Amino acid sequence: MIALLRVLMALCSLTTAAHFLRFGTLWDAVPCVLPMTALAWPRILPRPLLCMAALGGALLWVDHAANLVQWRLSLGQPWVRLAAILGSVCVAHLTALALLAGQAGRRLFGDLDGVAWSKTAIFVLVSATLVLAGATTKIPLLMGERFFPDSGSFWIVAFALYGAAIGGLLLGNRADRVRGRIWTLFSAVFFGQLALGLAGWSAFLMTGKLHLPVPALILAGPIYRGEGFFMLTLLAVSLALVGPAWCSHLCYIGAWDDRLARWDFGRPKTLPAWAPRLRMAILVATILTPLVLRAMHIPWIWALGLAAAFGLAGVGIMLLWSRRTGTMTHCTTWCPVGLVNNLLGRILPWRIRIDAGCTRCGACAAACRYNALTRADLDRNRPGLTCSLCGDCLPRCLHAHIGYAFAGLDPQRSRQLFVVLVTTLHAVFLAVARI
Ligand code: SF4
Ligand code: SF4
Repeated sequence: MIALLRVLMALCSLTTAAHFLRFGTLWDAVPCVLPMTALAWPRILPRPLLCMAALGGALLWVDHAANLVQWRLSLGQPWVRLAAILGSVCVAHLTALALLAGQAGRRLFGDLDGVAWSKTAIFVLVSATLVLAGATTKIPLLMGERFFPDSGSFWIVAFALYGAAIGGLLLGNRADRVRGRIWTLFSAVFFGQLALGLAGWSAFLMTGKLHLPVPALILAGPIYRGEGFFMLTLLAVSLALVGPAWCSHLCYIGAWDDRLARWDFGRPKTLPAWAPRLRMAILVATILTPLVLRAMHIPWIWALGLAAAFGLAGVGIMLLWSRRTGTMTHCTTWCPVGLVNNLLGRILPWRIRIDAGCTRCGACAAACRYNALTRADLDRNRPGLTCSLCGDCLPRCLHAHIGYAFAGLDPQRSRQLFVVLVTTLHAVFLAVARI
């Protein structure tokens, strides 16, 4: 049965790729050979996705056969042999589907467990979001499309595949390292494209309407200008879906603080007691300053200078404090957007929960760079306000007394759901986040 499944998957991949080569482009054909690639590299696609590909292929060939038979009938030409050939291609797809769903599929591609379903969900959500986003914008949304016309479907599958792979890694034991690396990658891609755009390659900019990439401006910018709510909307969407995880997976500047805090390999140090008060004062100033500047008709160039100075001071804080303390001082003390995320996160359902079995050994605290697992937090049996749902503490507790909690789901399901949502956002942001 396994040999039959292998042969059928190879045949189905090649016939469907040939179909797209004939009626589409090479870019459309390449994703069709993915199921065949999975024979050599089984972890590239989860089993539910392979089943969906087989079902999708069968439906495609039924539709194609029906169209061709109708066309031949309208011309009065023979059609039985054509129907038999295309019908056998459909049967091959359906047989592959049945085998994939059964023992042969399990032995070749593993169990249908939570990880497999999570990877499948990420693939579907990333593809659907990018298709929808592409359909609602007039400019080519994905970078690859700008250089290779008609390659949109290829890049959508590539980003969906990337998301599924990252989701699998984030559900593993090295999630803290993976999170740091993908976050850095996102920031590097974002700022790399900005640098190339500023150097004159306009293809690397999205709209070309430049703005300072300082997170505080997500709040202060619209207050000063009275318009430009795009970033604020994006932040609100991420808050609604994954609570304060913008500050551990998605922000283009937070990744720098994460990198610099990881520079110090020792245990992250606890921030002083006045840090939360300073952060609140900065949030109030971030709201009041643009109101005052606007009321006094201060020219935008001064406002821009002020924002740039604030951003640079933040970078200085990362270099001076985060690097030395191992705690993300910029994100937990300086950035007002982080505080908004933390405060609003409190009224949203995502939580990190410490259960009653916790022995207060402090192993989890050694992984927390957000100053959210101080001795006082452990004594209260819950992370502090600055928790960004990064998840780095989870693998440190050998007895799993700390974990994600979401609306009545058990910790494992909560973590899987969280990873599905946050990885989908990450993959979509990576695909489209340009200025
Ligand atoms: S605290 Fe500010 S800079 Fe840090 S990750 Fe959050 S929004 Fe970004
Ligand atoms: S408590 Fe855990 S999930 Fe929250 S910020 Fe600290 S390490 Fe991350």
